[in-house]
Amino acid sequence: MHVLVLGGTAEARRLAELLTARPDTRVTTSLAGRVAAPRTPPGALRIGGFGGAEGLAGWLRAHAVAAVVDATHPFADTISRNAAHAAALTGVPLLVLRRPGWAAVAGDDWREAGSLAQAAALLPALGRRVFLTTGRMGLAAFANLEELWFLVRSVEPPEGPCPARREVLLDRGPFTLDGERELLRRHRVDVLVTKDSGGAATAPKLTAAREAGLPVVVVRRPPVPDGVPVVTGPEAAARWVGLSGPGRPEFPPG
Ligand code: NAP
Repeated sequence: MHVLVLGGTAEARRLAELLTARPDTRVTTSLAGRVAAPRTPPGALRIGGFGGAEGLAGWLRAHAVAAVVDATHPFADTISRNAAHAAALTGVPLLVLRRPGWAAVAGDDWREAGSLAQAAALLPALGRRVFLTTGRMGLAAFANLEELWFLVRSVEPPEGPCPARREVLLDRGPFTLDGERELLRRHRVDVLVTKDSGGAATAPKLTAAREAGLPVVVVRRPPVPDGVPVVTGPEAAARWVGLSGPGRPEFPPG
C-alpha cells in the first residue's frame, strides 16, 4: 500500500522509518520546501505545496494513496485543514500524528496567548529582552515593539517585517539545557516566547527559564480538524496504518 506522510517533523521521519521497514508498504514523505537542507526520511520524497485541498486530493488519486498521516508541525494548520478536506473529498483514511503539548510544572511562570499578536501584546509588561523562538514566520506581530530587544532564533533567516532591535541566531534543535542556560545568561534575557510545540528537542529552554525565574509566553496550538483521529507517537501511527490498508477491517469501502 502507498502511504503519504505529510512531514516536516522528527516524528514524521520516525514514522517513515517504521513504515519503510514493512515489505508491503511504500512511503512518500511530503515536505513544504521551506528549509534549504531538510533532514530527509527514508522512502520517497516530494517537496512543495500541492495547490490547496483540491490539489492534494488530486495527488492522492493520481498516486493511488491508501492512507495519509498528517505528521506536520502542530502549528502548520493550513496543511492540516487541507489534508482533512482532501480526505473528505477522496475517502482516503487520514490520521493526525501530533506530539503532546508541554505542561507547566511547579516553578514555571507561564502566560498563555492565543496567537502571536496576543503574545506580543503581553510582552511590554513582562520584560525588555525577549528570547523569541516562534520561528521565522509571523515576526511582523512583534515588529512594532520598538522599546524591546529580541534574540530571534530560527532555522532559516526571518522574512518580512521584524523587530528593529534584534539579533538573529540561526540554529536547529535539539538544544541542550547547558546551551539554553548560557544563551539566557549571555543575552540577559528576561522573557521567553515560545509556541507550544511540544517534544524534547526544544524543551530545555523551558527548564532554563524556570531555573532563572523568567516569565514564559506560550502560544496555544491551533485545534486539530474536527473528526480526524489523533495519535501522539510514530509507533501508534504505524499501527494505525497497518489497520487502514485495503482488505483490513477499518479500511472504508469504496
Ligand atoms: P502551513 O501554514 O500549514 O501550510 C502552508 C502551505 O504550505 C500549505 O497550504 C501547503 O501548500 C504547503 N505545505 C505545508 N506543509 C506541507 C507539506 N508537509 N507538504 C507539502 N506542502 C506543504 O505550514 P507551515 O506552518 O508553513 O509549515 C510548513 C512545513 O514546515 C510543514 O511541513 C511543517 O511540518 C513544518 N514546520 C512548521 C513549523 C511551524 O511552526 N509552523 C515548525 C517546524 C516545522 P499547498 O496549499 O500549495 O498544498
